[in-house]
Amino acid sequence: MKKALVLGAGGFIGGHLVKCLKSEGFWVRGVDLKLHEHAQTKADDFVVGDLRDQKFVRSIFDCRFDEVYQLAADMGGAGYLFTGENDANVMHNSAMINLNVLDASLKCDIKNVFYSSSACIYPTHNQLEPNNPNCAEDSAYPANPDSEYGWEKLFSERLYLSYNRNFDMKCRVGRYHNIFGPNGTWEGGKEKAPAALCRKVAMAKDGDAIEVWGDGLQTRSFLFVDECIEATIRLMRSDVDFPVNIGSDEMISVNDLVKLIASISGKNINIANIAGPEGVRGRNSNNRLITEVLGWAPSQTLRAGMEVTYAWINSQNSQQHNQK
Ligand code: NAD
Repeated sequence: MKKALVLGAGGFIGGHLVKCLKSEGFWVRGVDLKLHEHAQTKADDFVVGDLRDQKFVRSIFDCRFDEVYQLAADMGGAGYLFTGENDANVMHNSAMINLNVLDASLKCDIKNVFYSSSACIYPTHNQLEPNNPNCAEDSAYPANPDSEYGWEKLFSERLYLSYNRNFDMKCRVGRYHNIFGPNGTWEGGKEKAPAALCRKVAMAKDGDAIEVWGDGLQTRSFLFVDECIEATIRLMRSDVDFPVNIGSDEMISVNDLVKLIASISGKNINIANIAGPEGVRGRNSNNRLITEVLGWAPSQTLRAGMEVTYAWINSQNSQQHNQK
């Protein structure tokens, strides 16, 4: 039986990845600082511990896993990553995790490692116009990410690619662009825009206005988590030894995203644009390279994924309301 190790298995994407690997017949060990908050883990073995601790990391690499997926990071939405208040933690914590994971992978003779990078590595100067962002993979340098989170991701991309170059270890790097879906953080300050907006709409009454950071004309694209997992596994098992985008190229403004969620909810929602951390003006996944090298492109619409996500957040919100 093949064995996989999923680091960050208590998180949003990691939880979905464990489920998928189990359905493929893998024996799976999940590792995280915490148990999954929204679902019972499907992992055969789940170890709670801190991946910043080198001794702990070496202890979980106790066999030759066929596949290691490194998703653990000090992570959050704009409210966490763009205020500057968490910069030192974000850089220190995630870099420590990645250094430890590669060190232990090498010692354990692991052959296949996936690393989850981010669209946040792309230069600010290519994302100043809402309707014309450039996030092609070869635009990453000269580097100028808009957050320390992006800089750490760029450093770690290079770290994984160095191990790929210098050792007998295949490292695969995916640059995720705004992944969304059920079982993710939807409240508490670390949630990302799709979940935060679904929550605000779910909590609003018909005719209410909800607050949106910035003028709402900033653009993004959003990829449903099931599609992200499919692309991740395909990349892991490929010979693609350079970073590729894993995202959707269905770009939408944040105000239009609110209108989409409102129409799914059936509520009449107004928008109050207020000052707040908003990141770059425009961002869209460029899928030319991944389509060329993996034959992959997202297959479902933003609306289809948002319907599932809104239904889940709405039910979480109702449950919480009923408990009070
Ligand atoms: P998440 O926050 O839900 O999951 C990350 C997990 O890592 C969390 O469960 C957290 O507890 C764990 N973790 C953090 N520090 C740890 C430590 N020291 N030891 C052990 N576990 C630790 O985030 P996610 O959305 O599932 O993202 C997964 C990966 O994908 C992250 O690396 C993230 O940077 C990257 N990514 C995500 C998105 C997105 O839209 N969700 C976009 C770009 C990149």
